[in-house]
Amino acid sequence: MSDLPLAVAISRLPHGADLPLPDYATAGSAGLDLVAAIEGEITLAPGERRLVPAGIAIALPAGYEAQLRPRSGLAARHGVTLVNSPGTIDADYRGEIQAILINLGDAPFCLRRGERMAQLSDAQIERYARHLILDEVGEAGQEKLLAARVLVVGAGGLGSPLLLYLAAAGIGTLGIVDDDDVDLSNLQRQVIHGEDWVGRPKVASAGSAIARINPEIRVEPHHTRLTAANAAELVQRYDLVADGSDNFATRFLLTDACHLYGRTLVSAALLRFDAQLSTFKSHLGPPHPCYRCLFPAPPPPGLVPRCEEAGILGALAGTAGTLQATEVLKEVLGLGDSLSGSLLIYDALGTEFRKIRIPRDPACPLCGAEATIHDLSGHR
Ligand SMILES: [Zn+2]
Repeated sequence: MSDLPLAVAISRLPHGADLPLPDYATAGSAGLDLVAAIEGEITLAPGERRLVPAGIAIALPAGYEAQLRPRSGLAARHGVTLVNSPGTIDADYRGEIQAILINLGDAPFCLRRGERMAQLSDAQIERYARHLILDEVGEAGQEKLLAARVLVVGAGGLGSPLLLYLAAAGIGTLGIVDDDDVDLSNLQRQVIHGEDWVGRPKVASAGSAIARINPEIRVEPHHTRLTAANAAELVQRYDLVADGSDNFATRFLLTDACHLYGRTLVSAALLRFDAQLSTFKSHLGPPHPCYRCLFPAPPPPGLVPRCEEAGILGALAGTAGTLQATEVLKEVLGLGDSLSGSLLIYDALGTEFRKIRIPRDPACPLCGAEATIHDLSGHR
């Protein structure tokens, strides 16, 4: 059922005639709300079950079947759930849609005429069920994820878990920037790629893995290196940027581009047995710092070794990239405490997480009052 919305003929029955006819589909909810077509109200005692009419009849196309799901809020708040078995409604069914509600709570539950009690669902509701049941995410949150456009720079050690989890979570559009081909030495940590992709572009390999996990995600492959010439345009095409690159040139270029063009940057870096993670929103002004508040300029070439010279414990990339994916989802959903203003340091050998504050530097060359960086011309 990937071609949503599905056109289904819905008709109101006489006893539900005054109730609103449900909207069929939105980006995040492909289901159909069912409201209680009862007289006045009913009360379900603890443990009681009741067949509740929805006042509608539907005609599903041949070959389809639908399931009833509890409204997440109804189930979570009141302990009321549905007891319908899957597959009760199929293309041959022409009767009234009814829900069997059971009160699993220890208090009586009152249901009034017109209240939403269940949803007729298809695959999307099932796929994201564990998000929908979280009050902090719910359908509104899942809609935000599905509407979000996230750019992931680098389909390597960090980019692998980032892309896998963002795709699984339903981030609707994923841009991937990477000019590399898959190499056998990548497979020790870059878990999005398989051995059968060695020698072929990482963006294509990542796109194929994403399609296997969640075919409804739109992947926009950018088989190129991020440069001063393309960074502004690429960054502006997305709502949020996740830096999974492995070099200072790209990290500083993204820092500048995200600040100048007003995008939140979720950043991570790896070396040997250590990882660092932060979120930068300096475009929003004080108190948010930028990466240059911490490191005003790139270190001289050769001072800090790259991953290929210094090595990295493979699973560390998974830890850091997964933390990064979590922060991206939090930013899109507006949940919890943002990492902006903090640097998370993970010491894998000591099994220690530390969070230190990053103050905004008033003399920062990018976000300070006397900033000297106003475009990307300082980058190659
Ligand atoms: Zn700054």
